Amino acid sequence: MNYDKADRVARKAYKDVPLYINRSMDNNEEINIHNVSIIKKEDLIDRQDECLEPAAYMDYMQNKLICLRTSGSTGHYLQIMWKMSDYQHSMAELWLRRIKYYGIRPDSRLACFFTDNRFEEDKNYVRKNNELAISKLLILPETIDEAYRMVMDWNPEWMILQPSTAAVLVEYIKRTGAGTPDALKYIEFTGEILTDDLRAAVQDVFNCRTADQYGANEVNSIAYECPCGNKHIMSSNVMVEIADENNNIICDSITPSDCTESGRIILTSLTNTAMPFIRYDIGDVGKIIWEPCKCGNHNPILCLSGGRCNDYIYLNETDRISPYILVAIFDKVNMILDGAIIQFYVEQTAYDEFNITLYTDGDVYEDEVSDTFMSCIDNECLKHMKYHITYTEHSINTGTNGKYTYFRNRVINRLVYDELK
Ligand SMILES: [Zn+2]
Repeated sequence: MNYDKADRVARKAYKDVPLYINRSMDNNEEINIHNVSIIKKEDLIDRQDECLEPAAYMDYMQNKLICLRTSGSTGHYLQIMWKMSDYQHSMAELWLRRIKYYGIRPDSRLACFFTDNRFEEDKNYVRKNNELAISKLLILPETIDEAYRMVMDWNPEWMILQPSTAAVLVEYIKRTGAGTPDALKYIEFTGEILTDDLRAAVQDVFNCRTADQYGANEVNSIAYECPCGNKHIMSSNVMVEIADENNNIICDSITPSDCTESGRIILTSLTNTAMPFIRYDIGDVGKIIWEPCKCGNHNPILCLSGGRCNDYIYLNETDRISPYILVAIFDKVNMILDGAIIQFYVEQTAYDEFNITLYTDGDVYEDEVSDTFMSCIDNECLKHMKYHITYTEHSINTGTNGKYTYFRNRVINRLVYDELK
């Protein structure tokens, strides 16, 4: 491996894409991946219009791009665009490994849970070909029976679960004695930090193999766990660099190194040509390990040490629900109001009270956003709570130590999964 591909995509982005052209250095040094600066999520959400490569604009106007509105797990909304062929290319290595390790193919029956409304119909679930996607809005105490019945009827061969969703399902199955799908042979975790306890509980309850996948809508798959338990970087899809607090790159996924220090994860997409991500700070923390692995994959191993960690919403002293419920509501508002919310941040201040901060662009009517938000809450336990919504026209700084979060519980300060038995 060398830096040629990364250099090429960097050069092209800095030549063609307004966002990067505006960041270009004044000197005449030729652009390469090592002399461009790190770009942050906030830099992009403020300049959404400048992120596309000019040729992709045509495709965008003709509705030919894959468009993922949300990257809601950090609270920042960014419209992520992909050309269909690039998207497939970005998933190729992941699919090769799913097939090889677990016998899971693109046509295997899948059940997953979504927060974003990437589907046309405003439905709580969508069945499409071999995929059943269920809204996270259904994973609430009064509707989880219905959601789980759908999973059982579908009898999936595999599931993609965020750890917090997996935790709720495990609790539900243990509490009710519900069965598990007969055909299920594999569960893939994604989207949040996975703990050993939760993995053990899932394997025990569902009696299937599991693997952890680290990815993001911006670049798709970043690292995937092999059967030896190591998350190997998807080198055909991304270049990963680790940056220290002074923005110095301390190591990368191309040149083997002894450096095992943790730092901010910086990504360069090698496949997304429509919306290039060059030295992009994803908001997670980790380190790169170069060690031979028995699985035979020579790509370096990524260890995440921070990441998208969120508290739970507590309904009372004992009952808790995932804050993804809120993400699903904001996604719905954005679908109705065409992306009015750029970023959200929520604090639970009492069992029945929330402070919400919304970053919107100046053109929206705040009352309309607030009314739409209230009308999108269709679950009884959330409906009766008090919401104090404030608006800002600047991005909200919610990160600490390089970790983003969109939700904080100020009532009970506990981290996700810590009590999972
Ligand atoms: Zn391995």
